[in-house]
Amino acid sequence: MEVVTSKEQLRSWLDKHPHAKKVLAPTMGALHRGHTSLFDLAREKAGDDVAMASIFVNPTQFGPNEDFGSYPRQLEADLELCEKHGIDLVFAPPAGEVYAENASISIHEKSLSTGLCGGKRPGHFDGVCTVVAKLFHLFRADAAVFGEKDFQQLAVIRRMVRDLDFEVEIVPGPTVREEDGLAMSSRNAYLSEAEREQAPILFQTLTDVAKGISSGRLSSPEEAVEHLRQKIESAPLARIDYAEIVNSDTLEPLDKFGIGEPRLLVAVFFGKTRLIDNVGLPSS
Ligand code: AMP
Repeated sequence: MEVVTSKEQLRSWLDKHPHAKKVLAPTMGALHRGHTSLFDLAREKAGDDVAMASIFVNPTQFGPNEDFGSYPRQLEADLELCEKHGIDLVFAPPAGEVYAENASISIHEKSLSTGLCGGKRPGHFDGVCTVVAKLFHLFRADAAVFGEKDFQQLAVIRRMVRDLDFEVEIVPGPTVREEDGLAMSSRNAYLSEAEREQAPILFQTLTDVAKGISSGRLSSPEEAVEHLRQKIESAPLARIDYAEIVNSDTLEPLDKFGIGEPRLLVAVFFGKTRLIDNVGLPSS
């Protein structure tokens, strides 16, 4: 495995592999099994060619009062995991390497990113689109893997690829969970012991809602979200940021079941830590 820290080194490495199929797994580091599942997917997709990862805490996707400064950074341990999971090339640039000091272009997706996390974190998806577009160019990626854990991000990136004609195949990976169902996240490390004990309520509730819809107990999105609110808020440390049932293609709110594929997305604060999760729901 080769580790490069500058764009120049990245270009030189890629110049030596002009004909290889190149599959990228972009990350912000503090790697866990969610990330390594994407590395495995990238490895599989690349076959005998090139599986690549980036480790970069991207400043432009954090709001002014968010956790950019305190986001966990553990490069040594991360590189070991990359190597163990068959990554050939890692780009781990220092903060100043990626953006020009007076960078003045960014990519703005104006439909899918208005609600959900985009509504709560203004500018977040501009930062995501801009960095992902830069990484696609820098890595000359043929394919890239993204987790369904960040469902809105996956949808926004697919849209960017379609609308800006990137020749990059987007490969989704399923959400990897702890044994008690909590979706793995670098931010889980922020949870206090008491918050961590209550956090599994998130996935338990998503599963419960999906079952309620299957059995006919919950017959409308409104009823399902109300049930979810009551159940999650029974955990004393949980505070819902948003909970919505949307059409999984358009991310528009659904007011009844039976049209399109519904998806339930939630963001919940435990103390200062904001966790997100989502599940597909039965379509009728
Ligand atoms: P991040 O480092 O949080 O920016 O995430 C990098 C990639 O890993 C994104 O495509 C995420 O969707 C994905 N990811 C994060 N957590 C998980 C998880 N628990 N399961 C699957 N993919 C994940």
